[in-house]
Amino acid sequence: MKLDFWAERAHYSSRWNYRDLQALLFMFALVAVCACASAKLSSDAGNVTSIWVSNGVISAFILTAPKHRRLPHFAIGILENIVIGIALGNTLPSECWFDLCNSVEVLITVLPLRQFSRADILNKRAVCRLVYFGLFLGPLAAGLLAAPALRILQGEPFLQGLRVWSLGDALGSAASLPLVLLIMTRGTTRERRTAQSAAEKAAGATWLALLVAVAFAVFGQTSYPISFLLFPPLVALIFRLRMTGAVIGTSIIVAIAAAFTAEGHGPFALNAATSITGHVLLFQVFGLIVFASCFPLGLVIEERRCLEDELRLANGKLSELALRDGLTGVLNRRSLDEILEAAWSSAAAHGRELSLVYLDIDFFKRFNDAYGHQSGDDCLRRVARSLVENVRRSEDCVARYGGEEFVIVLAEVSESSARSTAERITEAIQELKIPHIDSPFGVITASFGIATVRPSSGGSPSWLVHLADDALYAAKRGGRNRIETCVTSASRECVLN
Ligand code: GH3
Ligand code: MG
Ligand code: MG
Repeated sequence: MKLDFWAERAHYSSRWNYRDLQALLFMFALVAVCACASAKLSSDAGNVTSIWVSNGVISAFILTAPKHRRLPHFAIGILENIVIGIALGNTLPSECWFDLCNSVEVLITVLPLRQFSRADILNKRAVCRLVYFGLFLGPLAAGLLAAPALRILQGEPFLQGLRVWSLGDALGSAASLPLVLLIMTRGTTRERRTAQSAAEKAAGATWLALLVAVAFAVFGQTSYPISFLLFPPLVALIFRLRMTGAVIGTSIIVAIAAAFTAEGHGPFALNAATSITGHVLLFQVFGLIVFASCFPLGLVIEERRCLEDELRLANGKLSELALRDGLTGVLNRRSLDEILEAAWSSAAAHGRELSLVYLDIDFFKRFNDAYGHQSGDDCLRRVARSLVENVRRSEDCVARYGGEEFVIVLAEVSESSARSTAERITEAIQELKIPHIDSPFGVITASFGIATVRPSSGGSPSWLVHLADDALYAAKRGGRNRIETCVTSASRECVLN
């Protein structure tokens, strides 16, 4: 038992805000409806309570309430049960005893669990804890307390009282606790992340409508034992809406089955050999087995969906990483080859020009020697960022060719535009003012080779790179920190412009 369960309330303002009141009123209304419905079912079935829903509802509201609102939810829920019980004709002492049993069940359900979030209803561990405490231990303890009173007050054999009470409470909590938890934690982060798409919701709604129709057809008649017909639409609903489908689908089946079984209809009433208690027992076992089969299925599908999402995310990151240079973040050599190939084909198909700027940082070996390799890396990063910032169009692509060499592919760009881009970048690199003690320029500079071709006239991407490299070599020979442009001759050699 967690001693701090109610303790945090002291830290909060005692003022009730709108959300708190809304939750409390919602619980009040639901408990009233559920208690009256359970009592009506019980009187229809000759005073055999087949399902008791209120405890699950109260537990769900306590688990989703802020810590400082748990005690009021608990107290109001239990008091409401007492008042409704007395209004329905129970004596005060018996009602008090039965609601003590209910209180024990609610406490066993909520005390070992921390506040429930949306993530918990989709989490295997949390759901297992909920099932253990809320659907097994709580109802069993309440049944053990209630059975002696049922024996004294109604002359019911101990084991039968224990069985009917515990199974009815377990079934009621299975039908209400997860459903109310889902409703009360709507719109949280986790839900948004794993939310169903519009298509999934539409398909889910269709299967839900079919499930309701089948449930009415199965339980509204008393001629054929056809409860198995429920499973195809139920499983389809779970595949569409995952855990949400499991919770909604099973709760609806149990509600419809409870109503018809209490009135003596449905497959469980077909067994002429047993009394109404026997029919109710069949219904309870059926209901619990439906939950026991559908919740694990919902969880597994939910888990698979989460894994798929994570895998998709990881794959996206991985392919992004595979395209980029680890040090500078610009495209790597592999991407450059692909992009250049594509740009070449496109320009050839449309008869347009393709320019390539090849740049190499000047005296970079000396820079490394003077300032160290780390500073060299920083310098490469800053130069790369400056290149990216100084190309104008989103389709202009900057790549690291290797070492301190970069390439910019400019599709559909003339020689003069490519030259002005290179001039802009020359200035930008100098403006970085990265000191270079061993360079005649005093700061980091770069040399540029530009080549512009019309791929429709022949050649290949590697030839374009080769031309730009020739121009770069000329820029280096010409004194560095300068731009050389290459135009092609008839012999496909680089002729400096
Ligand atoms: P030039 O003006 O003729 O281009 O001379 P340079 O010194 O820049 O050219 P060189 O090819 O002689 O030297 C290139 C240097 O770039 C050598 C190498 O240590 C350095 N380099 C290559 N890749 C990296 C890197 O990833 N980080 C760092 N810090 N240095 C690198
Ligand atoms: Mg070099
Ligand atoms: Mg260099």
